[in-house]
Amino acid sequence: MKEVDFLIINPWIYDFAAYDFWLKPYGLLLIAGKLQALGYKIAYIDLLDPFHPELPKRPKRRSYGTGHFFKTPFPKPVFFSDVPRRFHRYGLPFNTFEKEVSRVKFKAVLTGCTLTYWYPGLISVLYFFASRYPDIPIFVGGIYVKLCFSHIQKLISECFKNAKIELVNYDVDEFLEDIKKRFSPSGKGIYPDYPAFYLQRKIPYVVIMTSLGCPFNCPYCASKRIYPKFKPRNPEDVFQEILFWHQKFSVVDFAFYDDALLFNFDSHLGVILEKVLTSGIKVRFHTPNAVHARFITKRVAKLLKDSGFETIRIGLERVENRFDDKVSIEEFLQATSYLREAGFKPKHLGAYMLYGIPEENFSEVEKGLRFLEKHQVPPYLAEYSPIPGTPFFERAKITSRYPIEEDPIFHNNSVFPALKNPDWEEINRIKNLAKSIRHRLFALS
Ligand code: SF4
Repeated sequence: MKEVDFLIINPWIYDFAAYDFWLKPYGLLLIAGKLQALGYKIAYIDLLDPFHPELPKRPKRRSYGTGHFFKTPFPKPVFFSDVPRRFHRYGLPFNTFEKEVSRVKFKAVLTGCTLTYWYPGLISVLYFFASRYPDIPIFVGGIYVKLCFSHIQKLISECFKNAKIELVNYDVDEFLEDIKKRFSPSGKGIYPDYPAFYLQRKIPYVVIMTSLGCPFNCPYCASKRIYPKFKPRNPEDVFQEILFWHQKFSVVDFAFYDDALLFNFDSHLGVILEKVLTSGIKVRFHTPNAVHARFITKRVAKLLKDSGFETIRIGLERVENRFDDKVSIEEFLQATSYLREAGFKPKHLGAYMLYGIPEENFSEVEKGLRFLEKHQVPPYLAEYSPIPGTPFFERAKITSRYPIEEDPIFHNNSVFPALKNPDWEEINRIKNLAKSIRHRLFALS
């Protein structure tokens, strides 16, 4: 049996949909990396691991390390009976998880949850450890804990009365100080304190954050609630991190999780990309979190292309009746023309459009899709999920058919929680329209 200090668990997802679009538990891996560097021995069980040899069926993988997760049909919660979609549990079969845990001896468990409506996966993990290892402390963190602290607190006090569960909704460094006082490391750190992607069975890509937070404050977004202040990292440190993964583990694909990747480009990302170019390494960069069109100049577009950007998503959200000021339509069109001039084809580009907002107007969404088609930018629809503490959440409380304040399960974007009576036919028509526009534009690439 392998003996470690901490067992880290990335929980299952129970949902209508889940896809590995560079989807990793960044916070958990960040803490794992820091603990490892301090000399703690770590075991990691990724319940979403698409490469586990005991999966009954290998999930399909796609380009740049993205792909499907293994999934098992799961009964749809009764309150979602009006949603015409199937429900699944994404991740390893339960007995595979059990077997994995039985191979490790550990002093404490660390786990977490990102999206607020994924907390049932976390609860399954907590139930497992609290009932089978009642004397082992369990530390729980993540965005869900930060955004819905009173919800998880109540759940724990009602359902896990005697369990040793501790909620971590404070700073990583503070958490590490607490750990150092309570546990002695039983090994030696061998790697720098980067998020510990090496704990995975395979590293199809690495997620990088060059900064925390966003200088903007859009009324529907979680960024300000999660990171109240914008904090850029040192560009040299970011470059060294990219170099480490590329040289030591042959990683080629990197996905930026930044909320404002291009902000202060010349003194930040520009410096990192110049270093990448000078080093001669051949890597590919992706921006699943979208970038700000406002900051894309001719020079920025060229440097993005030359340094290996492969997937560029831009946050547009709306063409008419815009509800944020992160970009104007003129800036968007100017940015896409610079990107095309630099050599990006439609297949590399994409613009996010937010839909399903309170009092949604689908004809406005359709006009946005047509606008993107006309300007040859593939549209990607992002379903709105209410984020507690934002102005849009207050509006969604009024328009929703669910008690979104009471239970984060109702924040699930697949159920269009902000709509009173979703017209599923219309929703499917809009989704199919976006898909067909994308396919037409890809054919031009
Ligand atoms: S610009 Fe993007 S990340 Fe920043 S607050 Fe707006 S939606 Fe959020």
